[in-house]
Amino acid sequence: MGSAQKLLRWYDLHGRTLPWRKTRDPYRILVSEIMLQQTQVPRVILYYASWLKKFPSWKRLAQASNTEVIHAWAGLGYNRRGLMLRDIAREVVERGVPQSEEEWRELKGIGPYTAAALAAFTLDQRTVPIDTNIRRVLGRLLLGIPYPQPEHDARMREAANDWLPKRRRYADIPQALFDLATSICTKAPSCAVCPLREDCLTAPKFLSGSVPIPKAMIKKAIEKRHRDKSYPDRIYRGRILKLVREANPRPVSISAIGSAIDPAFDPVLDKDWVKAMVGRLMKDGFLKEKADEINLA
Ligand code: SF4
Repeated sequence: MGSAQKLLRWYDLHGRTLPWRKTRDPYRILVSEIMLQQTQVPRVILYYASWLKKFPSWKRLAQASNTEVIHAWAGLGYNRRGLMLRDIAREVVERGVPQSEEEWRELKGIGPYTAAALAAFTLDQRTVPIDTNIRRVLGRLLLGIPYPQPEHDARMREAANDWLPKRRRYADIPQALFDLATSICTKAPSCAVCPLREDCLTAPKFLSGSVPIPKAMIKKAIEKRHRDKSYPDRIYRGRILKLVREANPRPVSISAIGSAIDPAFDPVLDKDWVKAMVGRLMKDGFLKEKADEINLA
């Protein structure tokens, strides 16, 4: 039995039951994929059903205003993703639902990973979406690299193409890889209990203890932070948006924002910082300003 078949057999027994795995509907799959970008699975589960209740179709989402989207997305973080999802829905309503990975890639906001995921999950196409988790498993299994990086993706794609099974379960393979990546083939993998250990090119290295586990594999993106603030700017931008959302339809005075989002706000040292964050939120299409007051765009 090949390692892809072993993976599927393991997945049939141990795979997670997640709401978006029960459907092949492109809209529902896309919603889950966008929500899962930078948000943990348990949190997405909480918001997924309510989003679909509010916006059950491409058409309904395409009609949604910025305010509606921002309200519904509240709690998922990185609000721009909600607006991007709405914009993709508008394009789909206009052009029709893509019928291949290549067609998905033509839509603004859909990158190579999401296009491959949609092709696999909705069309059962023979492709493997490569994200951090899948890269880790396939790089170890097929290339013998303990900590694979994006520069290995091209080789990985070639190797995955030979590795994919003949049997058509292309929608299940990435899901199985996700589950293995988060439960067994983690940063410090548990090769001894892995269903793929006999086929894995890296298992002998890990099992012999000859691979040092790096303390910080991924350099954390350097997030912009003002002076000695406790959090990066994106957290304070989120607070501004929350403030405006909760006040809506009443506008919020710009001069009232600083102390509302930061107890240590300094009117001299932090004034321009708040203004810059408001400017960024306006540029991103979340807010509009009128006479020193802001509201949802
Ligand atoms: S044997 Fe180890 S390194 Fe290979 S896929 Fe399994 S957990 Fe990952």
